[in-house]
Amino acid sequence: MPAESLADRYRAIRESLPEHVRLLVAAKGRKGREILEVVEAGASLVGENYVQDAERHRVELGEAADQVEWHLVGHLQRNKINRALPLFAMIQSLDSLRLARAIAARAERRVPVLLEVNIAGEESKHGIPADEVVSTARLIAELPALRVQGLMTMEPYMEDPEGARPYFRRMRALFEELKALPVPALHMQTLSMGMTNSWEVAVEEGSNMVRIGTAIFGPRS
Ligand SMILES: *Cc1c(COP(=O)(O)O)cnc(C)c1O
Repeated sequence: MPAESLADRYRAIRESLPEHVRLLVAAKGRKGREILEVVEAGASLVGENYVQDAERHRVELGEAADQVEWHLVGHLQRNKINRALPLFAMIQSLDSLRLARAIAARAERRVPVLLEVNIAGEESKHGIPADEVVSTARLIAELPALRVQGLMTMEPYMEDPEGARPYFRRMRALFEELKALPVPALHMQTLSMGMTNSWEVAVEEGSNMVRIGTAIFGPRS
């Protein structure tokens, strides 16, 4: 077991990040008490992969859950939209026009979203293909129930994080391209990319939100 506490590891990463970069704590596979420890060390942004995990973690955190901004970062099944909407301040994993329309049909207030991009075109991953992002973003921007605030990606896993750099560059270019579009309904603010193995490279390439699990909590069992 490492000697450092979860709180120490969270703080060490927070301190190495430039101030303008937000740190999302990736909670998948973790226990409520582990998340609470990191929240007590100052974390205010938690990402969940599954609706049912978010529900459980909220109960386990008790009052502290209300101090946290919860984001959905995993694929959302359409039959879970109604349960997801009251739980999350943002859906980072908006991965198709079809899902966007289904969310818009059920939303009772405006839902902040990021468009998830499958930047390397991997079959195993969700996300909008890179060459469809601009056209899809224009269509999603027409849905008044959603507020498009940026892009998210899960890059291909590489042992050497330098290998991910070209994907982060492509993401940054897409982000800038969307930002430059004369579409007022696109509010491009957040570029969510970089995980345990890759966040330093992602930040160098323009990420302003990293999503970290393993480097804080240790390997998933
Ligand atoms: C698991 C996960 C992360 C964090 O991954 P680590 O390598 O454990 O830091 C980030 N984003 C998403 C969408 C994830 O599923």
